[in-house]
Amino acid sequence: MTLSIRDVFSGRTPSLPIAYEADFRTYDFYGVRPFPAPVSVSGAVSNLSGVVSLDLTLRATAETLCASCGKPVSLPMEVPVHRLIVTALPADGDEEDELLLCPGGVLDLDETVNEAITLSMDVRPLCRPDCKGVCFACGADLNRGPCRCAPRVHPELAKLQELL
Ligand SMILES: [Zn+2]
Ligand SMILES: [Zn+2]
Repeated sequence: MTLSIRDVFSGRTPSLPIAYEADFRTYDFYGVRPFPAPVSVSGAVSNLSGVVSLDLTLRATAETLCASCGKPVSLPMEVPVHRLIVTALPADGDEEDELLLCPGGVLDLDETVNEAITLSMDVRPLCRPDCKGVCFACGADLNRGPCRCAPRVHPELAKLQELL
């Protein structure tokens, strides 16, 4: 999504609303495509006394798998984005806000939206905070209670135990 923001820079348009659905179906996060439904992008580019800023809220639901037990999980996400938009980088790089360079007056939102989503993705999503996972031997869901597998003993240790 690109947006001409020349009128916001000139002050003719103090605020330009943004609302669209970003297609994230091909977005890949470590081999998973978590967004079959679009990411909703809403906010505005505004000029406040000559300072042009981008404020967005990204809303999406990540459809992924629990890192512990592998069950499907839906994680609602709400990601705020705030950037100052500049036509050139300042000489002293002392800004606290993150700058978005927009030299030609045309703002490309894709990279910013993509980056904000990636930074807020959960690298180890869990179906519940205390998910116990599944037994590697029998595949039982350990959240439902312990399975019947004996505690695994290393073969060398077993031999040692026989000698004792
Ligand atoms: Zn789980
Ligand atoms: Zn088991």
